[in-house]
Amino acid sequence: HNEEAAAKAAAAVAETGAPTIFDKIIAKEIPSDIVYEDENVLAFRDTNPQAPVHVLVIPKFRDGLTMLGNAEPRHVDVLGQLLHASKIVAEKEGILDGFRVVINNGVEACQSVYHLHLHVVGGRQLKWPPG
Ligand code: 5GP
Repeated sequence: HNEEAAAKAAAAVAETGAPTIFDKIIAKEIPSDIVYEDENVLAFRDTNPQAPVHVLVIPKFRDGLTMLGNAEPRHVDVLGQLLHASKIVAEKEGILDGFRVVINNGVEACQSVYHLHLHVVGGRQLKWPPG
């Protein structure tokens, strides 16, 4: 269906290393609701929130990290920074007692933007397993 077609199209573009909408967010060419920012990481609210708190945490320098599945040893530091930034976001948002960090990897996981991002989700009772 539509969602799958869009994901496949995005995946095809990702193969080329084409820029994504997140480059424009990082460059502040398009606005975003920033929750946390440091030298290497940007965290901003998802425009289509799936919970009262839904923040995306991304590396400012994609460096081949279109998706977690493309991670290489050189990415280990930034991967740690992203996870730590997710904790800072949860703390700032007051959901440290219960939150979820999700990475959708590839078409089958409904990844739609091919610039690695962690979803920090919370502020309501979450269900398990996810859909
Ligand atoms: P994915 O499906 O790739 O794991 O997640 C991509 C997320 O990016 C989606 O939850 C979508 O709502 C969000 N998103 C897409 N475009 C924009 C945008 O321009 N601004 C913001 N803040 N979020 C976006």
